[in-house]
Amino acid sequence: MCGIVAYIGHREACPVILKGLRRLEYRGYDSAGVALLNGQLNVYKKKGKVADLEAFIADKDIHAHVGMGHTRWATHGEPNDVNAHPHYSTSERIAIIHNGIIENYAALKKHLQQQGHEFHSDTDTEVFVNLIEEIQKQNHCTLEEAVRLALHEVVGAYAIVVLSKDAPDQLIAARKGSPLVIGVGEGEFFLASDATPIIEYTNEVVYVNDYEIAVIRNGKLDIRTKEDVVQTPYIQKLEMELDSIEKGGYEHFMLKEIFEQPKSILDSMRGRLELEAGHLNMGGVRAFEQKFMNAHRIIIVACGTSWHAGLVAEYLIEDLARIPVEVEYASEFRYRNPVLSERDIVIAISQSGETADTLAALELAKSKGATIFGICNVVGSSIARATDAGAYTHAGPEIGVASTKAFTAQVTVLTILAMIVGHRRGTLSDVKLRELMVELYTIPQKVEKALELDTEIQQIAEIFKDATNFLYLGRGYNFPVALEGALKLKEISYIHAEGYPAAEMKHGPIALIDENMPVVVIATRDSSYEKIVSNIQEVKARKGRIIAVVSEGDTTIPPMAEFVVEVPHTSEVLMPLVSVVPLQLLSYHIAVLRGCNVDQPRNLAKSVTVE
Ligand code: GLU
Repeated sequence: MCGIVAYIGHREACPVILKGLRRLEYRGYDSAGVALLNGQLNVYKKKGKVADLEAFIADKDIHAHVGMGHTRWATHGEPNDVNAHPHYSTSERIAIIHNGIIENYAALKKHLQQQGHEFHSDTDTEVFVNLIEEIQKQNHCTLEEAVRLALHEVVGAYAIVVLSKDAPDQLIAARKGSPLVIGVGEGEFFLASDATPIIEYTNEVVYVNDYEIAVIRNGKLDIRTKEDVVQTPYIQKLEMELDSIEKGGYEHFMLKEIFEQPKSILDSMRGRLELEAGHLNMGGVRAFEQKFMNAHRIIIVACGTSWHAGLVAEYLIEDLARIPVEVEYASEFRYRNPVLSERDIVIAISQSGETADTLAALELAKSKGATIFGICNVVGSSIARATDAGAYTHAGPEIGVASTKAFTAQVTVLTILAMIVGHRRGTLSDVKLRELMVELYTIPQKVEKALELDTEIQQIAEIFKDATNFLYLGRGYNFPVALEGALKLKEISYIHAEGYPAAEMKHGPIALIDENMPVVVIATRDSSYEKIVSNIQEVKARKGRIIAVVSEGDTTIPPMAEFVVEVPHTSEVLMPLVSVVPLQLLSYHIAVLRGCNVDQPRNLAKSVTVE
C-alpha cells in the first residue's frame, strides 16, 4: 500500500516526484503530499488524489533539487490533510514519508509526548519522525545515525524516506517489509516503491533489502545494515517498457489489461511451452524436481485474486499430478500453527510479490522446513527474493487495482507447473500431455475470441447496472472462476456479489433468488455439465435472472437463460483462462456505467503491503 517517490539530483525534483506519484497512485490514493528541500523544508499535502495535490501546490514555490512524495492508503487515522504524508517532526526540521505500519507506535508516542514532542496527526508515522528527532537530540549524532538507532526501536513494517533541513543535500531511506527501489542515474538518484516512476529516467536499479539504510549524498549511494555494516549495492538492469505502464489509448488500465491477455498469456508461456520440440520447461520446477517428485502435499498461500488462481491450481495439480493440495488464505495460515514438514511444498502466489501476509506465510513455512516456491509478476520483488525457487508470470506491469491479466498469467504458469510435475510423476501420460500442450497453445486465440464479446457484454451490463446483488455460480474448474467474477464486480462496482459452487447454492444462497436476482452461471461443456444444467433449472424455477456463460454451439442452456454468452470451447482444465474473460468485461462495464473509478476503487490498493 501507499506509494513512495523521492529524488535527488540536477533536475527539478517536484515534477519528477509528481509524475512518479501518478504512476504509483494505484497503490493508494486517499491523500498525497510532497516535501521539498531548498534551504527550507516545505511540506505540502492534501486529501484526495495526486491531481488535488497538484492543484494545491500550483501557486507555491516548488523549486528544489531534493524532495520526496507519498500517496497514502490509510492504516492509522482517516484520510485527511493532517494525516497525509509527509509528516514533520515537532521542530519541523525533519520530515518523513512511510509505507507500512509501526506496531508499537502507541507506547513510543506516550514516551515521546513525555519528552515534549507534539503530535498533530493520528498516524503511526508521525511517531517515527519524532523518534528520529529525539534520538538525534539525545545522542548529538548525525541524522543517519539517528535513523539507524530508531530502526532498533520500531516494531512493524516500513519503507521510509527522511529529509532534514540540517542535511540539505541528503536523502536517507530504509526498509523492512515494505518495498523500496533505488534508480541510479547519471549523478542523480530516484527512490520509489516500485520501478514504474524510475523507468523513464534509468534502467539501473538497486533493490533495498530488509534492515538496510540507504544514504544518498554528494552523488554517492551508501548502503549499510542497521548494524552499520557497509553493503555493496547490487545494481540490476530493469527490463520494463515505458509503454507497458501507459494507458495506450484505452480509457482505463483495467480495460487495457483485460485486452492484453492474449499477449500476457503467451508471454507467460514463452520459453516454457515448446510445442514443436514437445517440451515443457520451468526452471524453478527443474531446480526442485526431486522435491516435487516426493512431495507429500502442496500448500498454496495467497490473498484475493491470487487465492482464486490458487484454487484453480488445486484442481489442476490434484487432477494432473495427483499430489494433495490445500489452498490457504495467507493471513489465516500465518497466524495458525500449521502442520508442515520437509516434504511439503508451499507455493506463494502474489502479483506484486510484496503482499505482506503472503510474505509472512512463506517465511513461516520456511522456518518449518518446507520448500518454498514463489509465483510473482514483479521481478525482483520481496517474495521472488525470499523463495527457494519460483516462476515469474511475465504478464507485464498491472496497474488497474482489480487484477485481470495477472490472474490468467498465474493460472497459465500453474497449469504448466501441474503438467510438468504430472508428467514427471507419471500421472499424466505422454499422449494426454501432448494434447494439453496443443490445447494450451491455442488459449491466446481463444481469449482473443472471448474478447470479441465486449459489445454484447456491454449491453448486458446496461440491463443489470442497477442491481444490488449478484450471484455467481460454477462447478469444478469454473467454481474459482465464479469466485473471481464476484470479486471483480464487488471491487470495482461496489455491488454486493457472491460466488458459490453451484451445487452448494441449495444450502443457503438459493433463499436469495427472486425475479430481481441476476445469477451468472459459468456452464461451459465439461464433466459436470449436466449437473450445472440442473442447477440452472433450479434458479429458473425461482425466477432468477440467468446470465449464462456457455461453450460455443451450446443449444441446451440458451432456452433456459435470459442472456447467453458463448465462449470458445477448450479442455476442461484450461477453461478458467477463457471463461473468466466475460466476467472481467461484465464487471468493467457495469462499473463504468455506474460512474465508478475503475482503476482506483474506493478503499482498495493494488499492492497490499500491510497485514
Ligand atoms: N501507517 C501509515 C499511515 O496510515 C502509512 C500507511 C501507508 O502505507 O500508506 O499513514
